[in-house]
Amino acid sequence: MLIDGELRLTAGGATFDVVHPATTEVAGQATDGTVADMDCAVGAARRAFDGTDWSRDVEFRYHCLIQLADALEEQKEHLRRVLITEVGCPVSVTGSQIDEPINEVRHWAEHGRAFEYVTDNGVHETPLGPAHRKVFYEAAGVVGAITPWNVPFYLNIAETMPALMAGNTVVLKPAQLTPWSGSELGRIVAERTDIPAGVFNVVVSNANEVGAALSADPRVDMITFTGSTATGRAILAAGAATVKKTLLELGGKSAHIVLDDADLSASLPMAAMMGCVMSGQSCILPSRILLPRKRYDEGLAILAASMANFPVGDPWTPGIMQGPQISQTQREKVLGLIRSGVESGARVITGGGVPGNLPVGYYVQPTLLADVDPNARVAQEEIFGPVLTVTPYDTEDEAVAIANNSIYGLSGEVSSADVDRAVSVARRMRTGNVTINGRSHFGIRSPFGGIKQSGLGRRNGEEGFREYLESKTVGMPG
Ligand code: NAD
Repeated sequence: MLIDGELRLTAGGATFDVVHPATTEVAGQATDGTVADMDCAVGAARRAFDGTDWSRDVEFRYHCLIQLADALEEQKEHLRRVLITEVGCPVSVTGSQIDEPINEVRHWAEHGRAFEYVTDNGVHETPLGPAHRKVFYEAAGVVGAITPWNVPFYLNIAETMPALMAGNTVVLKPAQLTPWSGSELGRIVAERTDIPAGVFNVVVSNANEVGAALSADPRVDMITFTGSTATGRAILAAGAATVKKTLLELGGKSAHIVLDDADLSASLPMAAMMGCVMSGQSCILPSRILLPRKRYDEGLAILAASMANFPVGDPWTPGIMQGPQISQTQREKVLGLIRSGVESGARVITGGGVPGNLPVGYYVQPTLLADVDPNARVAQEEIFGPVLTVTPYDTEDEAVAIANNSIYGLSGEVSSADVDRAVSVARRMRTGNVTINGRSHFGIRSPFGGIKQSGLGRRNGEEGFREYLESKTVGMPG
């Protein structure tokens, strides 16, 4: 852990195992931090925010983030090995999980340096004469960052770098299954940057109470969280007592509306790839495919062929695109949801179980379920596995209604030969982001986030930086 500038283990030396999902073998240990460690880290972050110039010295912050980006770049092959070991994600798909996030550290450094921290709000009449108002944008304070296991290095960066560059101090609590990406980030901050003691802290733990302690601590001004909707609700409730500012990126169950004029041979192989590439462990995955009934069999055949031939296997082998699920628990959850789909009347077109050629490791076959009832569990709950559900529809209105029949609203996709028609359908989808014909909505320069129970607030883009700032309006004579 990194606490108050010191790299250390928890007192007493308790540890927990980190398991490599492709072999199910113990790869090593992580220190098992406690609520007392979290208490120290929050205290250090509070002192660093209140007692140093960090929040006011934008040039120093820029210098520190560029130092960090350079050091991460130098150590990126080590970070890639750590990531593959704890997540099991294939080496072929680590570009977006290691290389791009390192570039994003530079992006936030530049963005924060160029940001206008004072704006002129003009002169306004008041009973005592004209008031000249200026708006100062200031750091929110101490930010608690809690991250999930599916893309840990990226999400550790995505949650903490805009927060740091905006002038906040940070306590990062990585997920239990992926502690090392977080502790490595802490190590590199401590060893290779001038970031002052207490400005950036990492508390690793196997206990949910440690994250809960962070989200309830009155010394914390803001929580930024990525994870499940259930935990998001608990974090909102924990922050209510101190009215904590809360940024939540939660679960999704996104729909892909394939319109009747779409080029199926272009859109559906891509949909199959997206469904499998991170073993389906992606929050923005459009996992509910809605096909026009008159092209249903044609669409199912293309999806089935793409999924049946998808390269699943050892994540260290180049060319493999789908590795194992992260844990036995996750695999059981995925297989249980597939079973529930079948019990509710869905047809297994391909997959449905464990690959016969991969007896070791937490693998699941790419699975295509057809005739899925939009109200079935498998169409309502986030699966987080390489499973696509397919439901036929008759009219565009019906497709939009099925897409919107969800507690979630994170992402979505529309495929059509007519882009204007696709955009008008996208506008009717109750969701935060939509991809059209494979042109992704997702990127560091575009706001990203969910509506309904998929979250509060936005990451990325201008909005994603402002989330970590508060505005202070000052009126003065003149
Ligand atoms: P999770 O909610 O179980 O855990 C996430 C983090 O919260 C972990 O660090 C965990 O230790 C911590 N935590 C658990 N209980 C807590 C509590 N009571 N108080 C404070 N912290 C607590 O999620 P997960 O299983 O690690 O990740 C998968 C979920 O993340 C999926 O639902 C997925 O959709 C979501 N996700 C969302 C996005 C997005 O951008 N919207 C991105 C990636 C993942």
